[in-house]
Amino acid sequence: MKYIGAHVSASGGVENAVSNALAIGANAFALFTKNQRQWVAKPLSESSIKQFKMALQQAAINPKHILPHDSYLINLGHPQPEALQKSRTAFIDEMQRCEQLGLSLLNFHPGSHLRQISEQDCIAIIAESINIAQQQVPNVVAVIENTAGQGSNIGYRFEHLAAIIEQVADKSRVGVCLDTCHTFSAGYDISTPAGCEQVFNQFADIVGFHYLKGMHLNGSKTALGSRVDRHDCLRGGTIGTAVFEYIMQHPEFDDMPLILETIEPENWADEIRWLRSLAA
Ligand SMILES: [Zn+2]
Ligand SMILES: [Zn+2]
Repeated sequence: MKYIGAHVSASGGVENAVSNALAIGANAFALFTKNQRQWVAKPLSESSIKQFKMALQQAAINPKHILPHDSYLINLGHPQPEALQKSRTAFIDEMQRCEQLGLSLLNFHPGSHLRQISEQDCIAIIAESINIAQQQVPNVVAVIENTAGQGSNIGYRFEHLAAIIEQVADKSRVGVCLDTCHTFSAGYDISTPAGCEQVFNQFADIVGFHYLKGMHLNGSKTALGSRVDRHDCLRGGTIGTAVFEYIMQHPEFDDMPLILETIEPENWADEIRWLRSLAA
């Protein structure tokens, strides 16, 4: 079965994300558990945590179909020790928030070398960051998102994801989220059924589907291999619709959050209906 939703607003409290998801016909969703533009946030209140869990139960949404996203400020591969420490502290706080909410996944962008160190060294720092977080927080899986490779971001090759995982001590608590926009912008041609077959086979060989914990379903405004991250509507943009048909029809993508981060939230309900029609 497919679990489809969007990255919904948690404004006014995390508990509001659940009703925002239900309002668009979702049975999965993503959210920020704090303001993603600030380093430090107030702890979650007891009442917020309680209401969130109750709302989930009432909505019959399984926590494993929820894919929280961490703050964009965090860089777990930062080349400078103080800045790295700040990111690691913030990431552990994000993991603890997930744990408090009964959530098992935390989605993040691997990190950036800022052109100060090699990709390989950056990958080692990212893996060490995950190891440290895993020691601090039990139960939450660190879900590495592939990137478009914009700027000095790591994670635009499947090999980067595999290299990070290889250096993580507890492999039961590390996973991957593939973003269709990032995949295409990074140079993987998923615009045709044959291309999808080839790219996902490559992913299976290099990373392995057992690490796949969720997908971000987005169109792209930029060309194949542009290394520029600009999301578009599902049926707009440069990728076409083959990849969404492929995902909806293949069981490798069952039982995990399939999350829209498309640019027009007023279309989310319609995009979710359209995706479900592809699964039928
Ligand atoms: Zn992301
Ligand atoms: Zn994404």
